[in-house]
Amino acid sequence: MLKRYEKFLEELDKELRGYFLEQEQYIKCKQGCTDCCEKGEYPFSRLEAEYLMYGFLDLPKDIKSEIRKNITDLKIAKQNSKSERFLYQCPFLVNKSCTLYERRGIVCRTFGLAYLKSDGTINLPNCTNQGLNYAKVFNPETKEIYLDNPIKKELTIDKILRSNLAEKYELECGEIRPLIDWF
Ligand code: SF4
Repeated sequence: MLKRYEKFLEELDKELRGYFLEQEQYIKCKQGCTDCCEKGEYPFSRLEAEYLMYGFLDLPKDIKSEIRKNITDLKIAKQNSKSERFLYQCPFLVNKSCTLYERRGIVCRTFGLAYLKSDGTINLPNCTNQGLNYAKVFNPETKEIYLDNPIKKELTIDKILRSNLAEKYELECGEIRPLIDWF
């Protein structure tokens, strides 16, 4: 299954590279920017979480300890949190870098793109509010979006995991949970 998932990722990445290229005039992503890994829920399916954890086993000892500590701290913070949605920095982000970049989740791969939702509205990435991607076509005061060419495909994790591409590779992805809830 993980081999099939890797093949699926190769095709998905190719498609996403095309979208980033198509939208490049709005994109501010650059090496060292980790805005999208610093505050979120990071929905991961069981399959993605397993794939990530196989990569974790091969990481250097000191990095593994750091990630384990991040996870423990986050579990405690989540238990003590009173908010409905627990937003956190991803535990795999160490020294401002993803320790498992090649194995990152689908949500990590689509971060940063604006796309059209089934209700006809445009979904902007969170970093628009930080003056990053698509900030030049968004008015934070009125919340108006001046974008005539969003991607015409809903790039949510559940849609991607139920796409024709996922079917082609016969993926069995399992349930989807916030990343921290897989530990
Ligand atoms: S797995 Fe990597 S890319 Fe995804 S949110 Fe965590 S640090 Fe960021």
